[in-house]
Amino acid sequence: MSARLLDGVAIAQAIRGEVRPDADAFTREAGRQPGLALVLVGNDPASELYVGSKLKSAGESGIRADLERLPATANVDELLALVDRLNRSVIYDGILVQSPLPKAMGHDAERRVFDAIDPTKDVDGLHPSNVGLLVQGRASLAACTPSGVIEILDRSGIEIAGKRAVVIGRSDIVGKPMALLLLNRHATVTVCHSRTVDLPGVCREADILVAALGRAAFVTPDFVKPGAAVIDVGTTRVEDRTFIEQLYPAGSKRLAAFEKRGALVMGDVHPAVEQVAGALTPVPGGVGPLTIAMLLKNTVRAAHDRLRKA
Ligand code: NAP
Repeated sequence: MSARLLDGVAIAQAIRGEVRPDADAFTREAGRQPGLALVLVGNDPASELYVGSKLKSAGESGIRADLERLPATANVDELLALVDRLNRSVIYDGILVQSPLPKAMGHDAERRVFDAIDPTKDVDGLHPSNVGLLVQGRASLAACTPSGVIEILDRSGIEIAGKRAVVIGRSDIVGKPMALLLLNRHATVTVCHSRTVDLPGVCREADILVAALGRAAFVTPDFVKPGAAVIDVGTTRVEDRTFIEQLYPAGSKRLAAFEKRGALVMGDVHPAVEQVAGALTPVPGGVGPLTIAMLLKNTVRAAHDRLRKA
């Protein structure tokens, strides 16, 4: 048996196709486009890339997106002052501060900055007010990546209600909101982490298994109930040739991609899981594309919500 591959690129494209008319409707009503402010501190190359594709995608979806930059030497007070200005701006409905922040800003900088974002503009869904609303099943803005996982399941016809769901990972960005979103959709949810005893055994109970731990190829076939839907959130850059050669046969596309770039971005799920799972998101092309699509969806939703409350 070979799992059905769930095409995140096509699903993200469909969502973006729905966001555009919604953004245009807002523009007609409000007399301005929905506005997204992206904040980038420093010039980490991966962050530059992410922010660049967010700006481009927003523009294509009828959203005004502007980049606000601070130098890597900026301190947390300067960043908080910028967030305060964006909170008070009437042209921005969404604010996204790209993480990670430079280490020099201090270990609690991210939390302080995310907490300072106006919850009505919190398109990342990470503000404690929005997380609290998510706990109570009435969030308007929820974290983008786990919201994207729900879209993949829904649009692939994978039922959630009544199913056993296991989430590996309990981060504030992925694992916890993922578990809450599944719970709110009436799954019976177990959350696993680094202290979980008999992780493969717990995972084998899952009809829906979400892997969000950030360890390449960690989830092997013995974690997976035959026929389960396996959602691979992980993205780890692997440069170890021996490791890659153990996973992919000579002549495979993935090995060729490694040869070309000297590295591969890998998911948490081992390639052999494809023979056991009923459905599987690939990496790349699975969950990844949904994150930006959900950011755009959240931005337009925040814009409409703010207009209604004005
Ligand atoms: P994180 O903050 O590092 O959290 C990892 C979680 O996995 C923690 O809860 C940790 O447990 C758990 N874990 C680590 N090793 C484990 C093990 N051996 N057994 C069981 N649990 C283990 O990472 P994150 O921010 O949630 O991201 C997770 C992965 O998703 C990363 O690869 C990240 O790059 C990827 N990601 C992808 C997207 C996307 O758009 N596709 C978006 C966000 C994140 P403890 O809590 O006990 O330490």
